[in-house]
Amino acid sequence: MAFTDFHIHTLWSDGSATTLEMIRTAHHNGASAVAITDHCGVGGLRALVEQLSRDVELAQRHWGIVSIAGVELTHIPPIVIPDIAMEAKFVGIKLVVVHGEGAVGVEPGTNLAAVGSAHVDILAHPGALTEEVTETAHRNGVYIELSGRSCYRDANAQVASIGITANAPLIISSNAHDPGEILTEALADQLAEEAGLTGEMARRVLVESPQNLMQRLKMPPLPLR
Ligand SMILES: [Zn+2]
Ligand SMILES: [Zn+2]
Repeated sequence: MAFTDFHIHTLWSDGSATTLEMIRTAHHNGASAVAITDHCGVGGLRALVEQLSRDVELAQRHWGIVSIAGVELTHIPPIVIPDIAMEAKFVGIKLVVVHGEGAVGVEPGTNLAAVGSAHVDILAHPGALTEEVTETAHRNGVYIELSGRSCYRDANAQVASIGITANAPLIISSNAHDPGEILTEALADQLAEEAGLTGEMARRVLVESPQNLMQRLKMPPLPLR
C-alpha cells in the first residue's frame, strides 16, 4: 500500500536536513508523495518558492516520488489567513498547511480561518476542535491532520473522533523536523491505529485522503505501488 507525507520541515525553517535529504528519506521509506512545508510568515513566500522549486522538480524527475512545494503558514493573524493563503498559491506554492491552535501561542480563530479558506489544504495540530471548525472543514474539504510529531501525537485520538463525527476529512502526516521522523508505512498504520481508525475508516484516511487531496491540488492521481 502506498503512503504519503504532506507535512515536512527542512533547514529552510526549523528542520535538521536539506529539502533533498528529506525527500530522499521519504523515497527510501517508500512514500509515493511528499510535500515540503516549512514555517513561513508573509514576507518569505516568494523566496520559499524559489528555494523549493528546483529541488522538488529534481527529486520528482530522478526518483519518481511526487514532490510538492508547500508551506506551513505559521502565526499569521487569523483575519488575513485567507489572503495570505491565496497569495501563497498565487506565487507558486502548491500546498498550504496552517499551524493550528494546538501549538503554543497560536492566536484563537486560526483554526476557523484556516478551514474557511479555499486556499488552505491542511490544518495541522488543531488542538481542541469545535463543531464550527469541523463542519467548515467538511464543507470546504480542508484536511485536518493527525500528526506523527511526538508533542501532538497524544491528541490524535481526540482529533480523529471529533473529526469523524463531523465527517471532516482527515489525513496522516509526520510533521517531521528530522529525517528519522518521516513516515514509513508501518508508522502511518500505527498512527491510524492509535487514533482509533480501523478497517474502512483507516483505509479512507490512509488511501483515499491522499488521492482526494491530489485531486484538490489539481495534480495527477498518485501512482499505485
Ligand atoms: Zn517546526
Ligand atoms: Zn505547525
